[in-house]
Amino acid sequence: SAGRVVVVGGGFGGAACSRALKRANAALQVTLIEPNEVFTACPFSNEVLAGLRGIELQQFGYDRLASEGVTVINQAATKIDPQQRSVVVADGTSFPYDHLVLSPGIDFHFEALPGYDDASEKMPHAWKAGAQTLLLRRQLEAMEDGGVVAIAIPANPSRCPPAPYERASLIAHFLKTKKPRSKVLILDAKDNFSQQRLFEKAWKELYGDMIERVALSQGGRVTSVDPSTRTIVTEFGNYTPDVANVIPPQRAGHIAEIAGAADATGWCPIDPVTFESKLAPAIHVVGDACLGGGIPKSASAASAQGKACAAVIVNLLAGRTPETPRLTGVCYNTVAPGYGFSLAGNYQPKGDIFAEVEGGATSPVDAPRELRAREAAEAERWFQTITADTFG
Ligand code: FAD
Repeated sequence: SAGRVVVVGGGFGGAACSRALKRANAALQVTLIEPNEVFTACPFSNEVLAGLRGIELQQFGYDRLASEGVTVINQAATKIDPQQRSVVVADGTSFPYDHLVLSPGIDFHFEALPGYDDASEKMPHAWKAGAQTLLLRRQLEAMEDGGVVAIAIPANPSRCPPAPYERASLIAHFLKTKKPRSKVLILDAKDNFSQQRLFEKAWKELYGDMIERVALSQGGRVTSVDPSTRTIVTEFGNYTPDVANVIPPQRAGHIAEIAGAADATGWCPIDPVTFESKLAPAIHVVGDACLGGGIPKSASAASAQGKACAAVIVNLLAGRTPETPRLTGVCYNTVAPGYGFSLAGNYQPKGDIFAEVEGGATSPVDAPRELRAREAAEAERWFQTITADTFG
């Protein structure tokens, strides 16, 4: 054949990559390995938590990719042999490749948060959308008015740096409308965060003093948890909130480590021109799992990387020199229905990472409400466009 490419992970990076490979060269044999028949998207899952949206709007299947000629295998990859160039899945079947793309997203770094390893029922992270999103939603619904919802936020690098603050906002919206005596307590391992001035202005305007934030320098970093008593221990003191949304520190999806593509940080260093692992030959890594440098871990970045990586592989298989990718990413935050803002960036390879280049833009801090309403509507269109582009 023209070449065999195996893609592990059917999320934003992997699905976009598989589709782009097949579209660029229909003669390629493209196999997508993903354990779930239905993918549940994280963007807009904060709206599900807040009761503003049903989870079914987050869910996408792989029929379209299959009809376009991608071979979809609904199994988890369990082993990778970089010498033999093959991937083994849960039932033991092995898939040989010329190029392998890993887009497994994140897994949690439990050693970095003592006590958490078994806590996801009592202290849901909801940082992978699906059952966890619905569990945290039920806990919010069951909480009495006057309760405290704590959100523990890890340091960067982590999946979608602004999303915890969007979550705090939309939970505050839910509480304000349904349980107005309640509070949101942010325990933060960072001092500064993405689009901070926009968030803080919106919080003041919309939620008064409902949202309290304890930053890193105030002792906000969570050092351990005790799920049996729902206790969160920080550098400053102990908290026992009524609902505890603990987002643990993260690393690349475990299969990246199995492949030998993750380094001591837990993430995957790559050559940003080709997405090739610095540690394992003929393995490309895209999406949240790679060490991207200046490019935030987002669905738009994962999708852009997946497509750029597809173009690289098509060129390599044809004996051509790959072109240098130029990636764009846009990240919308919705802090209440009809109130949104955004951060758009352009990124190019520089040394071992992606660096931001000119042309980016953040929403102005002082803007009329019509602009916020327009950006909230654009956010919805962005979601429709990227999911149609990825899954059909
Ligand atoms: P994923 O999309 O997570 O896909 C990984 C896939 O790999 C999964 O389907 C998984 O099942 C599969 N997988 C894992 N291990 C294996 C294995 N061993 N074998 C086979 N398959 C495997 N981004 C935005 O751009 N805009 C937003 O507004 C936004 N909002 C967000 C809100 C929240 C609350 C969160 C948590 C994230 C948000 N993001 C947003 C970030 C976005 O969801 C991620 O950055 C994006 O999903 C990364 O894509 P990925 O392909 O790297 O990983």
